[in-house]
Amino acid sequence: MTIALYPGTFDPIHNGHIDIATRAASLFEHVIVGLYDRPAKRLLFSTEERTRMARQALAHLPNVTVQLYSCLTVDFAIEVGARVVVRGLRAISDFEFEFQLALTNKKLAPNVETVGLMTSLEYLYLSSTILKEVALLNGAVSDLVPAHVEEALQRKVVGLASPAA
Ligand code: ADP
Repeated sequence: MTIALYPGTFDPIHNGHIDIATRAASLFEHVIVGLYDRPAKRLLFSTEERTRMARQALAHLPNVTVQLYSCLTVDFAIEVGARVVVRGLRAISDFEFEFQLALTNKKLAPNVETVGLMTSLEYLYLSSTILKEVALLNGAVSDLVPAHVEEALQRKVVGLASPAA
């Protein structure tokens, strides 16, 4: 059985991530969505919120589970028995970083392969960063995220706007 790890921060999960997880689930017997607990970047959602939203968004995929990790991605891959790390590739801008990451991971763990899945055309421009910027300025995000994530984003916007919150 080939287990694949799809790692990321998922702050929050969006349709581009769901598309990659869905396609990975059709290629591999089991996909573990690895939610990185300690990214260097500032996050909008807590670990619990990110985990809950990701689990709900992927609940319809029986061979996908969401697990939290805080170590090196390849160490987590080895720990959970994943031989493959799946990454989503958007425009050319992702390529150099992903290439460096894949080569570094190969050096650290030669038996773990990185597989890059090209984004679907409709999500080419989508990132959690862009999504949060649009949502925080009250732009429509209903085509970009599932309904429960849209609601969570709206609650954050209200919370950030209210000094008492
Ligand atoms: P981001 O903040 O860039 O949305 P994450 O760190 O949570 O992302 O990304 C996790 C993985 O999902 C990475 O492999 C990233 O390249 C991929 N990914 C993010 N957005 C998209 C998208 N729109 N289409 C395909 N893959 C994506």
